[in-house]
Amino acid sequence: MNKQYIFGLTALTLVFSSYLNAEEQWLHCGNLLNVKTGKILSNQWLQINDNKITNILSSTPKSINTFIDLKDKTCLPGLMDMHVHLDGEMNPKAYIEDFTLNPADLAFRAHEYAQRTLKAGFTTVRNPGDSYNVTIALRNAINQGWVKGPRIFSAGKGIGTTGGHADPTNGTNARLMGDPGPKQGVINSVDDAKKAVRQRYKDGADFIKITATGGVLSLAKSGQNPQFTEEEVKAVIDTAKDYGMHVAAHAHGKEGMLRAVKAGITTIEHGTYMDKEIMQAMKKMGTYYVPTILAGKFVAEKAKEDGFFPEIVRPKAAAVGPQIQKTFSKAYKAGVKIAFGTDSGVSAHGDNAKEFEYMVEAGMPELKAIQSATLTPAKILHIDDQLGSLEAGKLADIIAVSGNPLKNIKVLQQVDFVMKNGEVIKK
Ligand SMILES: [Zn+2]
Repeated sequence: MNKQYIFGLTALTLVFSSYLNAEEQWLHCGNLLNVKTGKILSNQWLQINDNKITNILSSTPKSINTFIDLKDKTCLPGLMDMHVHLDGEMNPKAYIEDFTLNPADLAFRAHEYAQRTLKAGFTTVRNPGDSYNVTIALRNAINQGWVKGPRIFSAGKGIGTTGGHADPTNGTNARLMGDPGPKQGVINSVDDAKKAVRQRYKDGADFIKITATGGVLSLAKSGQNPQFTEEEVKAVIDTAKDYGMHVAAHAHGKEGMLRAVKAGITTIEHGTYMDKEIMQAMKKMGTYYVPTILAGKFVAEKAKEDGFFPEIVRPKAAAVGPQIQKTFSKAYKAGVKIAFGTDSGVSAHGDNAKEFEYMVEAGMPELKAIQSATLTPAKILHIDDQLGSLEAGKLADIIAVSGNPLKNIKVLQQVDFVMKNGEVIKK
């Protein structure tokens, strides 16, 4: 055997073994929450190969050299937030930023907020509405491994009607206002509705967001009025269905919400003035409710501060804000399906887990609240075969906290360990 051959063999072995080590990891979880059964299992060993959980053992595996030691922690699946806006964060200057910031500014900011969200334990988010499709670009950059962030499902720019909650020119100087159309997310007919959905498909959106009623933070008078005709909502939903996309509806007032539910919307966001009739309709149609209590609490608090919101926004924030937690409580007790969502970007990114505390405070058991941020979103996003619970064969999105979240939900506000897709993000 010549020297060169031996060297070649050694190098090959080295390359091969380092390849194996890089691919395989072990995690020792002192406790692990099975989100399906609600049972906490002690001393669980998770084998991770590449981006997947390949095995879960209840006893110490033989012949492993290194492992990630989480023996004092409780492991859970990566959390999912069904309502975040990664490209901004509410502040008194937010309304001026429309005129001062360019798409690239928003994109860099979105990257920072995405990292905060991921480090807070949210490994998957749904982004219902952005500016300039920056969260579609961010999603692509994350998926390609250029930057780090949660798995993003983006709607791109939300769809509204002229003067409605998602009209980007509300409250602007008449010379700057122009007449935005379906491309910009403003529709006024069934044909416009179809075009706006198809444009978003072309832009690379994962789902569609509409603003079925007025909203709190837009520069417009009503936070409740219906803003789509029944035909327009239906056209959005039917077209989206053709392209394999679901539709989320922002809604505070009753009439617009009811139209959206009857037309077959997948999720109602905020749902502030949801009454018994709507709850019944949602149960019948299988509609999910994404409450965003955190945003309600945030705007109610900030409405008390002079100068935080423009004067046209302030009374809406004061009226709508405190209602959401009450509505959530009634809807949960009535049996409406709940999916976790915070509207982070109204409140600060990274504070997402506060929503759990408000859900539990309003009467939802801890396990149900955790399921609403794991199993339920995975189902809505059609990724439940890959994510939402810790099981062999699923993707390795794993977080760990100190303490037992079934006894104290607040422990989720301090996530000590985050793994996404097999990669350690925080340790
Ligand atoms: Zn929102």
